[in-house]
Amino acid sequence: MPSSFSHSFSLPDSFKEENRIRAKTALFAPPTAILPDGRQDLIGLTREEITQHLSSIGEKPFRTKQLWHWIYHQGVTDFTKMNNISRPLQQKLSERFVIGRPEISVTQTSRDGTRKFLFRFRDRQEAESVYIPDKREDRGAVCISSQIGCTLSCTFCHTGTQKLVRNLSAAEIVGQFMAARDSYAEWPSPKGETPRLLSTIVLMGMGEPLYNYDNVAKAMHIVMDGEGIGISRRRITLSTSGVIPFMDRCGRELGVNLAISLHAVRNDLRDELVPLNKKYPIEELIAACRRYPAASNSRRITFEYIMLHQINDSDADARELVRLISSIPAKVNLIPFNPWPKSLYKPSTRERQNRFAEIIMAAGFASPIRTPRGRDILAACGQLKTASERTR
Ligand code: SAH
Ligand code: SF4
Repeated sequence: MPSSFSHSFSLPDSFKEENRIRAKTALFAPPTAILPDGRQDLIGLTREEITQHLSSIGEKPFRTKQLWHWIYHQGVTDFTKMNNISRPLQQKLSERFVIGRPEISVTQTSRDGTRKFLFRFRDRQEAESVYIPDKREDRGAVCISSQIGCTLSCTFCHTGTQKLVRNLSAAEIVGQFMAARDSYAEWPSPKGETPRLLSTIVLMGMGEPLYNYDNVAKAMHIVMDGEGIGISRRRITLSTSGVIPFMDRCGRELGVNLAISLHAVRNDLRDELVPLNKKYPIEELIAACRRYPAASNSRRITFEYIMLHQINDSDADARELVRLISSIPAKVNLIPFNPWPKSLYKPSTRERQNRFAEIIMAAGFASPIRTPRGRDILAACGQLKTASERTR
């Protein structure tokens, strides 16, 4: 292991690491957002980029604010619906630009109300998103993918068995959320009522969001923009297997809630389950959590812990977990293992899960056992994998 990893990251080391990851993933860049007919998709662009495009066709910067409102607040995809823009300008905009959405190739709704979308992007590549309604309230979370496939090969994860095809663009990341809102007609009503159903985002779909940080960050800035979709950073949770350099950046730049896929409390076992651990071992990961700027008692870091029968579910594991997180504003989310075809593991027994949760709760940490959602349609955690890959 290089010496720079044996201590907490200093900033220059961290930049070097970020650049190494960026260089590695550059090979998996998404295609551009220009259609074959030459029109530019406005989704996924920053306000500054939209202003530049508008100025290239002789339009003033104040148009950006108007467009932003229609696109991201009202969810409009058709320039002719923008009634504070003149007909000739609507026409000119529609000749140069589009307001895109990924195509929904399959929608499945589970018995429990969970809805899974298979999206097809312009290059015919596919990724999945899941809408998970909250059982108690009339609201819910959209679980969004950040990559097609994953490079990280965690042994319990279905997505991990699919090689990384490519990163998703900011437009494709925002587009999953917007298309899910379309599917529930969840844009503000003409009276201005705020959408409630799709009001939370979890970056827990396919892929490792921090291996596609730049696109994820751009997409999150767009969804957090108060004049558009306007989802607060408190209602966004990014789950990572522990890409430390980008955890630091994510805390500084996005300040969203963090979830860590911990899953094991000893390096030998975590090396096996989450192979990225060989690069960023548990001690380093815990140190990075401790310095995560957006964490506080009211915004705790979630430690996700998948319960694997006789692998990581002993009392000693639970006690060690408590010791590891003791200095962090944390909660634990115990995830019953969701099996998928040919998976190697069995879920822990119900008694084991309860006993494990008790030990953690006795130490003062919330430790809910996550109810699997949408298992009947393979929409639960770790079951996502695009249909074409599944049939292969
Ligand atoms: N790559 C990121 C985010 C996507 S995975 C990460 O690993 O955090 C979202 C969560 O589902 C992670 O905690 C992951 O470990 C968990 N998961 C993966 N496979 C699972 C399975 N078969 N059953 C239950 N949870 C699983
Ligand atoms: Fe990738 Fe996360 Fe699955 Fe691991 S658990 S293979 S990091 S998607």
